Amino acid sequence: MSVSIWQADDTQAWQEVDFLVIGAGLAGCAAAYFAAQAGHDVVITDARDLALGASSRNAGFMITGLATYYHRALQRYGQHVVREMWDISQKSIGYWREFAQMGAVRLDECGSMLLAETKEEARELEQAARAMEAAGLPLAFIEGDPLGRGYHAAIRQPQDAAIQPYELVEVICNASGARLIPNNELYKLEQLDKETVIAYTRQFRFRARYVMLCTNAYSPLVHPYFVGKVIPTRAQVLVTAPLENTPIVGTCGYSDYGYMYYRDTFDGRLLVGGGRNHHREQEHDTTDDRTTDPIQRTLEAYLRRRFPDIDAPIERRWAGIMGFSVDGLPLVGTLPELPRVGFAVGFTGHGLSLGAATVERAVDHLLNGAPLGAVDAARLH
Ligand SMILES: Cc1cc2nc3c(=O)[nH]c(=O)nc-3n(C[C@H](O)[C@H](O)[C@H](O)COP(=O)(O)OP(=O)(O)OC[C@H]3O[C@@H](n4cnc5c(N)ncnc54)[C@H](O)[C@@H]3O)c2cc1C
Repeated sequence: MSVSIWQADDTQAWQEVDFLVIGAGLAGCAAAYFAAQAGHDVVITDARDLALGASSRNAGFMITGLATYYHRALQRYGQHVVREMWDISQKSIGYWREFAQMGAVRLDECGSMLLAETKEEARELEQAARAMEAAGLPLAFIEGDPLGRGYHAAIRQPQDAAIQPYELVEVICNASGARLIPNNELYKLEQLDKETVIAYTRQFRFRARYVMLCTNAYSPLVHPYFVGKVIPTRAQVLVTAPLENTPIVGTCGYSDYGYMYYRDTFDGRLLVGGGRNHHREQEHDTTDDRTTDPIQRTLEAYLRRRFPDIDAPIERRWAGIMGFSVDGLPLVGTLPELPRVGFAVGFTGHGLSLGAATVERAVDHLLNGAPLGAVDAARLH
């Protein structure tokens, strides 16, 4: 994304803003909420409109934890970081539940099921389960196939849930009390003096005391700092017509190391998503949110293999762009040379698992210099 000199020539009207959020997705609206709670007057602006990025295109799984199975996460990040991220995840999901209760957000307290596609994955799941048990985390390991659909083992996380993500973002935005300015792309940032940032957007020049970037996958297009740190990565889903008898009521299923997933929607359809691991090159490093035939064929094959009893037609297909950080953990901090510009990006396909509490830290850091812990982007410097 970029803005031409014909669209905006740096003479746009000025707006004085206390706390400006760029990006009106889950993260941006949560940032607006926490900043408002801290006593700030908040404006959110977006190149498109509320939640039109990944935040209303996702599957709506609120799964506690990281993208990697628990024992593998311990090997990769160490116990201290994994524990901290688990706490962030539990706290985030708690926040989403509180927001959901503030409005008419549909939420299914169905728990989640991490399912093994192969015997090898079943062994991995068992190791993950043992490591989680040792850490005192709530789960049940199930040997064999709990669903009679050809899986090999499962971990059930009873505390997880599935949500209607667009409704969630709407409620958070309203709860924040922030003013939303849509259709307004940011194209330049300048630190005017120690306490003032100028944000150049298509419609306005904002003179802001604080700016928070919540542009996730699009961050490398916003500022070069994010190039090589956040990789835009496409995710795709399909949804069937409403089923006569939904055979999957009551769970979010997550298999093939999280690369495949399915759930029932609130109107009795089956949603199937994922398949990215079979087409890495095409899905990696792109902001093109059109669906593609190879991935859609992979999803259809999964549907036929695991749900042969379902013959409802496919009614909708869509794609969205996730922001993958290079090490799989969110990135929070302030931009070099722009100390009043904070950011919370790189949710790595887990914005509903990690978003709210990560963003809360980001706001506290920008306003008060609070420590960032495991999500501190400085770890990549
Ligand atoms: C198909 C799919 C399935 C997924 N399933 C799940 C799931 O089940 N569970 C889960 O936890 N996560 C899931 N995710 C990931 C989740 O959706 C994201 O982690 C989350 O939405 C990130 O929120 P965000 O607000 O950071 O980003 P976004 O929602 O992408 O918001 C970023 C916003 O920034 C705006 N923006 C960008 N550049 C500019 C600019 N220059 N000026 C102004 N505005 C700008 C964009 O228009 C956009 O609205 C999935 C994602 C996809 C695509």
